[in-house]
Amino acid sequence: MTKVQKNSGLLRRIVSLFLVFSSLSLLIYGENVSPIPLTQLDRPIVRDEVVVPHVEPFITVKCDFHMHTVFSDGYVWPDLRVIEAWVTGLDAIAITDHIEGPVNRPFLTGDDNSSYELAKPVADYYGMILIRGGEITKKEPYGHYNALFLKDVNLVDNEDPFTAIENAVKQGAFIQWNHPDWNSSTRNQFEFQKKLLEKGYLHGVEITNRSDWYPYVVDWALENNLTMMGNSDLHGLVVGEFQLDKYKRPMTLVFASEKSEQGIREALDNKRTVVWIADLINGREEWVSKLFLSCVQFGKIKVTNPEKKEGQVRIENVSDIPWSLKFLGPIVTGSYRLEPCSSMVVKTKGQGGVKISVTNAWIKTGINLQIETNLE
Ligand SMILES: [Zn+2]
Ligand SMILES: [Zn+2]
Repeated sequence: MTKVQKNSGLLRRIVSLFLVFSSLSLLIYGENVSPIPLTQLDRPIVRDEVVVPHVEPFITVKCDFHMHTVFSDGYVWPDLRVIEAWVTGLDAIAITDHIEGPVNRPFLTGDDNSSYELAKPVADYYGMILIRGGEITKKEPYGHYNALFLKDVNLVDNEDPFTAIENAVKQGAFIQWNHPDWNSSTRNQFEFQKKLLEKGYLHGVEITNRSDWYPYVVDWALENNLTMMGNSDLHGLVVGEFQLDKYKRPMTLVFASEKSEQGIREALDNKRTVVWIADLINGREEWVSKLFLSCVQFGKIKVTNPEKKEGQVRIENVSDIPWSLKFLGPIVTGSYRLEPCSSMVVKTKGQGGVKISVTNAWIKTGINLQIETNLE
C-alpha cells in the first residue's frame, strides 16, 4: 500500500465517523443546535432594602462617605461602587480616591475627577446620591482627610497638608478626618488637628472605619463639636470585605430635611448623624435617642392578674437595627435582645415609668444610651 492510499483510507474513516456523530446529535437535539438558556440562573440587580425609619421631622438617609476605586488603590471600576451601594441598601455615597500623585495604574489615564464622572450616570440611573470627593493622604503625623462636596478634585492636590485642606475648604468642602487611630505615633496629641480646628477647617471625624471602632474618638468629637461618621473605606468588593449575611454594611445615618446632596450637607453641618456598624449604634445622645424611639415601639400593658398587678407588654422593633435592652425597673426587669423587624412580649408588674439601658447604643466612651418611658 502506498502512502497516499493509506492516508485516503484514514480520511474516509474520519469522514464516516463524523457523519455518524452528526446524525446522532441531530437525533438527540433535533435541528435546533442553538444554546438552551437556563434562565433560572439569571439574577436581576435587586436592592436589599435596609429598614430604618425616618426620625421626624427629618428623613433618614443611609450614607457611606469613604471608598476607593481603580483610580487610586481600589480594585473596582467606579460605576460598580454605585451598583453595590444601591444593592446593599444605601442612598448616598462619596467615592474618595487618594488625591496625591497621578493615577498610579498602568493602562489607566484620567485624573482626580474621573471616578466621580464615570460613576455619576449610573448613580443617576439608580437614583443614588453621589457626592464628589477625594482623600487627602498625608504621612504621619498629618493623617488622611476626606474632602467632601468638592467642585474640582484636581484643585485640591498640594504637597503641603495644610494647603491641600485649605484648597478643599476654599471650594466649600466638608473635611472629615479619616481613621484617626491610624496615626499611632501621635495618638491623643492631635497637634495638626488642633491647627485645623482653630482655622475651622475640620468638620467631621470617623468614629468607625471599615471594621475598626474608636470609642475614645467619640468624646473627642463631642469636645470639638465635630460630626461623627462611620464608613466602609472599601477597596475591594463589599461582599468580600464584610459579613453581609450577618450584618448590614457599616453606614452613617444622616437625618436630613430632604433626600438630596444639599440636604445631606446641611445635616452634616448640623451634626445630625448616627453611626451604625455591625450591631453597634454610636453617636450624639440626642440623635441616638431619637433614632431608638423611632425604631422601638411600646404597646399598652395588658393586665393578666389584677390582684398581683401582673401584666405584659408588647415591644416592637420596626427597623433592621438590633437593640439590646436592659430593663432597670421598676415595672420591667431583665435583659433582652430585640432582633431586627421583630416583636417580643415582656412581663410587667404595675404601671408607670421604666428605665432602659440600651447596651449596644453608645453616646460617650463607655456610656450607653438610657431611655425612660411610661408604660400604661
Ligand atoms: Zn486613608
Ligand atoms: Zn481611604
